[in-house]
Amino acid sequence: ENLIDISDEILIERKAHLGKGMSLQYKKPLHIVRGLDQYLMDFSGRKYLDTVNNVAHVGHENFEVVKAGQKQMAVLNTNTRYLHENIHILAKELLETLPKELSVLHFVNSGSEANELALRMVKTVTNSQEIIASEIGYHGNTNATVNISSYKFDGKGGKGTPKNTHIFPIPNSFRGKYRGKNTAKNYANEVQLLIDNIHQQNKKVGGFIIEPIISCGGQVELPEGFLEKVYQKIKKAGGLCISDEVQTGIGRMGKTFWGFQLHNVIPDIVTIGKPLGNGHPIAAVACTKEVAEKFANGMEFFNTFGGNPVSCAIATQVLQTVKNNNLQKNAFKVGDYLKQELLTLSKEFPIIGNVRGQGLFLGFELVNKELQPLPKQTDYLINRMKGFGILMSSDGPDNNVIKIKPPIIFSKKDAQEAIFYLKLVFKESFMNLTKI
Ligand code: PMP
Repeated sequence: ENLIDISDEILIERKAHLGKGMSLQYKKPLHIVRGLDQYLMDFSGRKYLDTVNNVAHVGHENFEVVKAGQKQMAVLNTNTRYLHENIHILAKELLETLPKELSVLHFVNSGSEANELALRMVKTVTNSQEIIASEIGYHGNTNATVNISSYKFDGKGGKGTPKNTHIFPIPNSFRGKYRGKNTAKNYANEVQLLIDNIHQQNKKVGGFIIEPIISCGGQVELPEGFLEKVYQKIKKAGGLCISDEVQTGIGRMGKTFWGFQLHNVIPDIVTIGKPLGNGHPIAAVACTKEVAEKFANGMEFFNTFGGNPVSCAIATQVLQTVKNNNLQKNAFKVGDYLKQELLTLSKEFPIIGNVRGQGLFLGFELVNKELQPLPKQTDYLINRMKGFGILMSSDGPDNNVIKIKPPIIFSKKDAQEAIFYLKLVFKESFMNLTKI
């Protein structure tokens, strides 16, 4: 009872001086003061198991990553107009994980900046600004990236599809426009319609962007064969394919290091963000030599912070930690175990209509018998889990998908703990009121 809780004071400050659009989670938001591995701790010392944070990829405040940053910070940090070995050590480490076709890198500071640069590349290389993207996709907070993010312009406060953006229905085979047989083909045909439409306007296709598993759209796995078909169509039309790996990259998928590798395709451009710095702002764009050559048309690309010695030291350590500690394999093993346990749970509790995802990038959806979304139950579940010391979060257009994307050091024991408490909550009466 001697604890000093300053949450209310912080909230007052926030209300007075921060923009209203910056949202917080939970009705009574948490005041987190420390991170450690797969845990976050609040001011009272209460420990929470974090099943949500895909930025703290190798664990909150990972000792080696923190040390790498501190060490370089004490020696030199400067803008990127000088030669420095750190950027090349990082480039080598990153390129080792990518197919040989993707051989050129640009470093930036956030996922939004990475996608912004990818769009600039598309525009310069193809001479077209026409972008094809998925319904309920999210690619960043800048003007140009919001303009390709249906999650934003079709959501609250949005003003609908901008003129150079072309949106196809989210390829969700559980509750989407097409289900069952021929799903991949049907969704790919929707993309073809957009290509035809662009041509009918006497315009050229610029680029196609998608996440290998659509995160904000509700952890939606692309139907098998969809991406391969679409890449062929886009390439035939002279467009460039961008894989947004801001959430899915760096081993999280388990089976593969990058999300696009699940789909047997090679993008022209890959954007990399969140996990690369484990919380430190660094992001990257990988592209083919051809794209890089055409992009360098004489206009300089300068980025004050992107690829500075400190950021590079940190990102290098993140990649080495993933490699040295076999964390991709851990994501595969623990993710698979957790997915199986969730599937078992869904047999017992049919309110779990669908379990999906790869590695430690999973989702499960709460619906009633008619497959209508149950956002209230989802919210209840998340808040009850918080009470048990487990942080969870929801997403999707109907806010009824629980997304699971913890630091990839998440263990089998952590998965068991989450399942144990989920089971308790699913038995509670509120979870069985599916008509409220
Ligand atoms: N792409 C995807 C798929 C994302 O999820 C996000 C962030 N949620 C971004 C891009 C933008 O990244 P940032 O917030 O680092 O600018």
